[in-house]
Amino acid sequence: MLAADYRGPYRIRVSHKPEPEILHPRDAIVRVTRSCVCGSDLHLYHGLVPDTRVGMTFGHEFCGIVEEIGSEVESIKPGDHVLVPFNIACGQCHFCKQGLFGNCHEANAQATAVGGIYGYSHTAGGYDGGQAQYVRVPYADVGPTLIPDWMDPDDAVMLTDVVPTGYQAAEMGGIARGDTVVVFGAGPVGIMAARCAWLFGAGRVIVIDREPYRLDFARSYCPAEVYDFREIPDMAVFIKKQTDSLGADVCIDAVGGDAAGNALHTLFGAKLKWQAGSAIPLHWAINSVRKGGIVSIVGVYGPTGNMVPIGNVVNKGITIRANQASVKRLLPRLIEHVRNGLIDPKALITHRLSLEDVPDAYRLFSGKLDGCIKPVLYP
Ligand code: NAD
Ligand code: ZN
Repeated sequence: MLAADYRGPYRIRVSHKPEPEILHPRDAIVRVTRSCVCGSDLHLYHGLVPDTRVGMTFGHEFCGIVEEIGSEVESIKPGDHVLVPFNIACGQCHFCKQGLFGNCHEANAQATAVGGIYGYSHTAGGYDGGQAQYVRVPYADVGPTLIPDWMDPDDAVMLTDVVPTGYQAAEMGGIARGDTVVVFGAGPVGIMAARCAWLFGAGRVIVIDREPYRLDFARSYCPAEVYDFREIPDMAVFIKKQTDSLGADVCIDAVGGDAAGNALHTLFGAKLKWQAGSAIPLHWAINSVRKGGIVSIVGVYGPTGNMVPIGNVVNKGITIRANQASVKRLLPRLIEHVRNGLIDPKALITHRLSLEDVPDAYRLFSGKLDGCIKPVLYP
């Protein structure tokens, strides 16, 4: 089969690889029909995720048709059209039982902080991903979810990660009616978080980024007030001015360790004063939220070295909430939101490409080129 093949930082090609096989009675094999590239893939692509091995197939956002099932799988059958949450979760461990499917204890043998994730390095279990014609789906009686007949598969594939992550970002923010919510990052996740902030009753939604085309999109889609951070000399001062000197009620970090700029800043710290204050969105979030406010983090960070201003967290009495999205827990209500037209996921898809185009998909998405917001591969 054809599959994306990681060769080292900034190098991905398409190779012929053996088709996956059922290894366990709870496995399924899915023939992939759609597979997105995610901001999380960019951390891998940029070489920032520990133990990312050459030869791995990335891709944790995919949907497709069930090809084969193991002897213990009863919830799906060959021929079913399914969307597959990015979390690999056993459904039975201490964490899965609480709906924390992103923290499954069984799916990642290393039992580090994160559970299992398709195509996300050996830190997340070493599973191959769905930027391929076929993928092995472990615990297939837990994750894969039937795509309703009425749903466009382009919407379905966005429910594997982007929509639940944006929604959970807003949910973790504990947004109260009328709250001012600031979202850092106008990538697919930040845009979705800003869209969902309204569903929780926000009174005002502000989105911050440095890509004018993404800010334009956020302005009309979310909708949101948008600002280019390159024009803001001091983020905390700016947000205070916007909020009667109080600060935002909720700040959402939908950026994480952004390789293009913030990782450099993390490495070189104060020496790299390319603008006043820190350019790390988590610092901005902590410094811009009001006293007693909530900072919700869905951006993915490296293990250490982010120099979080923890003193401000303590002195302002900030609550910080963070996690991988728990996709399966959120799917029933998100499917309803798509049905009711409250969320239009496929509107974020700007590039539809074949699997052979995987190097282009990464180049466009990483470089923020050609108006790229969300690229989807059609193997
Ligand atoms: P993306 O790379 O498309 O978007 C990130 C955006 O942040 C870009 O538009 C970039 O210009 C902007 N940005 C960079 N520095 C900024 C700053 N200091 N302030 C404001 N904006 C800044 O990625 P995405 O697909 O939208 O994903 C966003 C983050 O969410 C990534 O870190 C990704 O790994 C993470 N993520 C987490 C989960 C989860 O379950 N927690 C799931 C999916 C993605
Ligand atoms: Zn993703």
